[in-house]
Amino acid sequence: SSVSMAAAPMLTKLQQDCATPLPVLRNVAASMSEDIRAGLAVDGGSDLKMILSYVDSLPSGDEKGLFYALDLGGTNFRVLRVELGGKDKRVIAIESDQVSIPQELMSATSEELFDFIASALANFAHKGGNFPGKKGEIGFTFSFPVKQTSIDSGILIKWTKGFAVSGTAGKDVVACLNEAMDRKGIDMRVSALVNDTVATLAGARYWDDDVMVAVILGTGTNACYVERMDCIPKLQGEFSPSGRTIVNLEWGAFSKGLPLTVFDRDMDAASINPGEQIFEKTISGMYLGEIARRALLHMAEEGSLFGKSVPEKLSMPFVLGTPDLSTMQQDGTKDLHTVGSVLYNVAGVESNLSSRKIVLEVCDTIVKRAARLAGAGIVGILQKIEEDTKDAIFGKRTVVAMDGGLYERYPQYRRYLKEAVAELLGPETSQNIVIEHSKDGSGIGAALLAATNSKYG
Ligand code: ADP
Repeated sequence: SSVSMAAAPMLTKLQQDCATPLPVLRNVAASMSEDIRAGLAVDGGSDLKMILSYVDSLPSGDEKGLFYALDLGGTNFRVLRVELGGKDKRVIAIESDQVSIPQELMSATSEELFDFIASALANFAHKGGNFPGKKGEIGFTFSFPVKQTSIDSGILIKWTKGFAVSGTAGKDVVACLNEAMDRKGIDMRVSALVNDTVATLAGARYWDDDVMVAVILGTGTNACYVERMDCIPKLQGEFSPSGRTIVNLEWGAFSKGLPLTVFDRDMDAASINPGEQIFEKTISGMYLGEIARRALLHMAEEGSLFGKSVPEKLSMPFVLGTPDLSTMQQDGTKDLHTVGSVLYNVAGVESNLSSRKIVLEVCDTIVKRAARLAGAGIVGILQKIEEDTKDAIFGKRTVVAMDGGLYERYPQYRRYLKEAVAELLGPETSQNIVIEHSKDGSGIGAALLAATNSKYG
């Protein structure tokens, strides 16, 4: 119809600006490999921090006993207990609990927050009875910026995600938790402090020896992989018996060769961290809905996408969520009924069939770019590993463990990501690369790392 005709060229422009043909993907993959190398050479050598995890022994399957995981990464924290039975029995029992952190504790003192966590952990542990003669060992997944100093210590650089707890920054978060457990007389200890990506890799590796890479695509995004220690110059010759260690890319900070639009630049400028986390802002769940909203608002204002007036709610940052894009893209009705109701419910937009079709194209464009760039990032990691050890991974089965709400719940995203990886690697090699959803592997992964790094043998 005439309404959306004016928006049509704008859609074409958006599609051009977001295009990710093979040469663009190749360039992104190559830049990712290069940035990985530069970050491994020296601290501050590239956008990628390449943080050493100190995880240099991976779960083998032989782990036995009862272990805990504690996951603190947002307004909820999760506790989990797993009973491991060794090679044959594997996971005998698993229990978990979720506790929400009271708002006031998010701006309390460090002692108050950690006392609360320690108490919640003790309550959970007591429900399962006591374990005579042995301290409870905890794998602590802590998803805030930490300068790790060993497998069981790390200095908090700063709180993020709405936390403003006083007195923790600059301190060892493991010591903070251990001291809180001492104050409460709780006989438990943190044996491993890990990033959630690292825990996901460990959890997936427990079931499958071929797992080499883990990627999280949720609200934010990150990746890690198993690296040879002799390929990490900044380790300066330190070795562990395995000769391998997990390195956390912090790949959200990657920025090279990305096809960006005016909507990306405007969103970045309006963000709390302009110029930072550009890869994350292009591929992760927090932002895809917002990029689409900005594109749609522009089409409404300049191309009368939704008629003469511009729906007011469409001007509100972040009204359109990535789950909304996904819901719309699953619409199988002839009149795109679901698209219409999502638009009406979240943005107060009245639409007709032709404008709904354009909206779907906008969603697809943003999501396709995101997923294909994420795929290129994964190939960048794989190529880096392969270049250093010929046939280490491309000549045999290699698994990339994926987790996070975006990957899990956006079928188009998954499909585009896998397509891009296959395009980049070619038909033969891509047969060997398995991209696998490792659901909630991070909880059990952290508990496994407590086991492999047990203080009591
Ligand atoms: P987090 O990354 O916040 O720790 P998750 O891994 O569960 O937690 O990811 C949640 C994110 O996943 C949400 O912020 C959202 O961006 C995305 N997401 C959740 N549900 C859907 C959905 N149905 N479709 C697409 N994306 C979704």
